[in-house]
Amino acid sequence: MDMQDAPSPNFDERKHDVDMLVLHYTGMENGALALDRLRDPEAKVSSHYLVFENGDIVRMVPESLRAWHAGAGSWQGDDDLNSRSVGIEIVNGGHDFLADDGALPAYPEAQVQAVLALCKFILKRHNIPMSRIVGHSDIAPARKTDPGEHFPWERFAKAGVGVWPAQPDPDGLMGKGVEAGDDGAAVERLQKAFAEIGYGIKLTGKLDAQTMTVVRAFQRRFVQDRVTGLVDLKTAALVEAVRSLYASSAASA
Ligand SMILES: [Zn+2]
Repeated sequence: MDMQDAPSPNFDERKHDVDMLVLHYTGMENGALALDRLRDPEAKVSSHYLVFENGDIVRMVPESLRAWHAGAGSWQGDDDLNSRSVGIEIVNGGHDFLADDGALPAYPEAQVQAVLALCKFILKRHNIPMSRIVGHSDIAPARKTDPGEHFPWERFAKAGVGVWPAQPDPDGLMGKGVEAGDDGAAVERLQKAFAEIGYGIKLTGKLDAQTMTVVRAFQRRFVQDRVTGLVDLKTAALVEAVRSLYASSAASA
């Protein structure tokens, strides 16, 4: 892969083999500022790679070392995700730097192609199950919203990076989703499905704030037209679809 080196001092030793890939946006005004911050010893943050809007890739920490990109979080029962993952920061202002029309700033085509090629380059050399390719918002839903609901996860999945569930037939969606007044069993079923997918969630049987936060994280990833935190029928169907895809990919891994 074509890339430049711009070493960051912010790393230490891994305590585990690589079995995850975590995608981020930088959430800063521009790529130059992000590069400075990711190399600043005071900031104590880094990632293995930074991908600019024009598709240029910079390597900051060798994959054999533990870069500091994930922070506190969990996935499929694991924590210390920095020890287990390769992290890619993608230059994009995200939710803090909206475009002039108020939309999330687009990921340019050259950048998307570069990130996709980089992901494939990483997946070829590490044993990373499809269910462990995640966004930062998946592993830290209460703190993080990156890489955002404008990230082209469907395109990535169709290119072999992650999964994309079959879309439910709108006419086949009957009844209602899961609502605040529902009995504990329906809510707990939903929470169990999220836990099986990998989200850190407590099984409270209540549509509480932590559950709505996980619903939003799931929607940023898989139901990108509605980041509401509400479990409508389409969202509920897709939760079950992803749970089932991840269960079968784990079984075959
Ligand atoms: Zn992040």
